[in-house]
Amino acid sequence: MQASVTKPPRVIGDYQGERNGPTLIVIGGIHGNEPAGLIAAQRILDRLDDEKPGAFAGRIVALAGNLTALADEDPHLRYIETDLNRMWTPEMVHEARIIPENERSAEQREQLELLDVIETERAGAKGPVYVLDMHSVSSESPPFVFVEDSLPARRLAMRFEIPIILGFEEELRGLLVDYCTNTLGLTSLLIEGGVHEDPETADALEHAIRIALDAIGAWPVDSAYDTPCPNAALDSFARGHGRLVYDVRFRHPILHEHFQVDPKLHAFDPVRREQTVVAIDGQQPITAPLNGLLFMPNRQPRAFPGDDGFFVVRRVGYLWLRLSATIRSMGVLHRVVPMLAPGVSRHPDFPHRLLIDPDLAAALKREVFHLLGYRILKQGESQSMSKRRRLLQATFAATKAAMSAVFNRIRGRHVPLIDREDAWVVGRRRLDIQSLRHTP
Ligand SMILES: [Zn+2]
Repeated sequence: MQASVTKPPRVIGDYQGERNGPTLIVIGGIHGNEPAGLIAAQRILDRLDDEKPGAFAGRIVALAGNLTALADEDPHLRYIETDLNRMWTPEMVHEARIIPENERSAEQREQLELLDVIETERAGAKGPVYVLDMHSVSSESPPFVFVEDSLPARRLAMRFEIPIILGFEEELRGLLVDYCTNTLGLTSLLIEGGVHEDPETADALEHAIRIALDAIGAWPVDSAYDTPCPNAALDSFARGHGRLVYDVRFRHPILHEHFQVDPKLHAFDPVRREQTVVAIDGQQPITAPLNGLLFMPNRQPRAFPGDDGFFVVRRVGYLWLRLSATIRSMGVLHRVVPMLAPGVSRHPDFPHRLLIDPDLAAALKREVFHLLGYRILKQGESQSMSKRRRLLQATFAATKAAMSAVFNRIRGRHVPLIDREDAWVVGRRRLDIQSLRHTP
């Protein structure tokens, strides 16, 4: 039985400038034990109400996430039945909509109410709409921003002087920001402000909202009024990690309720493949499966099987980012690749998706897809293999696919080259396609 404390309202507050402009939807408390985002949003709204800055154009609206969990007397409670930040796939949203109201789970009710407000804001917006979802973490970490790897989202994330993490959405299905980005078409960011209990976390998130309002063109930062400078303040919280870009490469889901990350390890500490014992899960030592940096080690007081245990991330160079931005802008490449590359064909039902031969896909590293601007939507087995084995397998798979294409053509047969059941599916990102369409 949940204790009932007064629930926060869904809409914490809003502010409308005198001139039209972009809309920023900020959301706090998607997890019941993370109220810092709500404190930060309230401070910004109070300041706007006090100052009524003439330079403000557009709108900000602040929403509270999991109302029931936020109101629970247990401050560690993240959710009632299911994690509200893992249920935002189009299928799960559809499911929540069609089941009878009295059979919906606590989080399904929260989800539909939130979505209703977001869709209303989107429908009434007088300019572009952005989403900033604010969280906190259970173990010592600099603030960071997570963003899907599309060019408009990257550009926005680059405005924050904190580490930028790409590729969460491939490891975690059902994130709210992913739904806002890929189903609603809104540029969205998730910010982790710091540790749940640390008062600095709400400060970091307040600076993040201020920077977002500046970056989207709603309220320019003014050095006379914005003291300290929000980005300098955020940078100081990041403690030297600055604006480096990382890619998520591995997620360990918790297997057992007795789960503990090595207390000597912290976020962004290096881990070595098959050498660093990162955690004990049940009785089992969990070794890092690849070289990289430890990220978001779970130190919640209670461990739940299936929750995120820890991640491993790797640095992404600026050169790579620039190269992939150039490649993505080459529309012709995306038309030619499925026609010419053996083992690759266009998805029959979705124009911006590709089917990839499973042997070829398993041999290619996921960086190859990311470089070309594709996100992995469905994948099969992929075991770690040496560079030489990878190259051999890719060559073999491509040759086999090319020969069967020639053979079928000679025999005049029209058979699909790739079996849809086994194929990997990759897709271009909605914001990339949208932004290229609008670039002359
Ligand atoms: Zn959270």
